[in-house]
Amino acid sequence: MKYSLQTRCIHLEQDQKAEKPEHFGAISYPIYQTATYAHPRLGESTGYDYSRLQNPTRAHLEQVVAKLEYGIDAFALSSGMAAITLLMELFQPGDHLLVEADLYGGSIRLFDHVNKKNQYEFTYLNFEEDDIESKIQENTKAIYIETPTNPMMHVSDIEKIAQIAKKHNLLFIVDNTFLSPYFQNPLLLGADVVIHSGTKFLGGHNDTLAGFIVTNREDVQEKLRFLIKTTGAGLAPFDSWLLLRGIKTLAIRMEQAQKNAQKIAEWLSEQKQVKRVIYPGLPSFPQYEVMKKQARGFGAMLTFELEHEEQAKDVLNHIKLIKFAESLGGVETLMTYPTTQTHADVPEEVRLKNGITGATLRLSTGIEDIEDLLEDLKQAFEKI
Ligand SMILES: *Cc1c(COP(=O)(O)O)cnc(C)c1O
Repeated sequence: MKYSLQTRCIHLEQDQKAEKPEHFGAISYPIYQTATYAHPRLGESTGYDYSRLQNPTRAHLEQVVAKLEYGIDAFALSSGMAAITLLMELFQPGDHLLVEADLYGGSIRLFDHVNKKNQYEFTYLNFEEDDIESKIQENTKAIYIETPTNPMMHVSDIEKIAQIAKKHNLLFIVDNTFLSPYFQNPLLLGADVVIHSGTKFLGGHNDTLAGFIVTNREDVQEKLRFLIKTTGAGLAPFDSWLLLRGIKTLAIRMEQAQKNAQKIAEWLSEQKQVKRVIYPGLPSFPQYEVMKKQARGFGAMLTFELEHEEQAKDVLNHIKLIKFAESLGGVETLMTYPTTQTHADVPEEVRLKNGITGATLRLSTGIEDIEDLLEDLKQAFEKI
């Protein structure tokens, strides 16, 4: 791959010269809005038979995402949760998984309320601090982490965990949603599977849901091809196209959103109403060195805690330009209240143990002008 990451995103991984001038030379990849495909004759196929199995627009998107994450294959699904749900079909009743305690709330809900009824066992760990090897059991089959985590931004050392996973023959899964392939590539650091909520940075415009599984293992690829064709949550052609369009601007969006996050993190750190700011780009961030070793940037997600719960609620009531909404990774800056939104289904004692309190707010910076964002925060902070 001779081109830079930025160029590869814009040209969607197509080697312009090598490729035949297909699709009338269309610069934008066509949307193949079709459910089925006519066969030339018995025993022959155009390569496509039925869109649950595969569709050209989805196939192109899957190739793009596979290459951006350095995998051998990718699977595009109708949401991040559809991707994780499909991935969990790789396991059998009685299997045990070691999972990060501070995961996206929806993942915890899936494990506890859907997978457990199928006799999967889970042990929740803080991968930054706990002794991982001592928690491995005879039936342990996989390790599942996010780094940084949602929302407390725990950062764990991907290479170190990969070594443990290899030694014990465990499938190592990393949800890479928070940094996107632009800033971090877990497969290059020893992971077997990468998950993305494509709804977030890859899509980038808060206008569609999508999810991805990327792998560099042929055995996993083969099983997942069978599962996606059988269960049917593949991403629709139009949504696949929206993702292709979003990815074209991934680089420039990530750079601008990260710049905004850094400036806002610094500004928040100086406010008397703020108890702590958790942003990997602050030198005070505990895992700053690990982050620098394994990622090319610090991302656009930050979490902060106010002195009192009432202040957090007041900030949410007074922000104007910044929207009080769930989700992240889009061009618009969004503020989230994990306690009642993303992590509402996580039991209160677990939430508090993970450090999520009523005074915790999560911010996903967009690509607006930084002065306008700071102005909005200033006017909100004056009222709390
Ligand atoms: C949003 C999110 C998901 C779930 O993705 P959806 O597209 O909303 O289904 C999974 N993991 C992380 C880290 C997320 O932020």
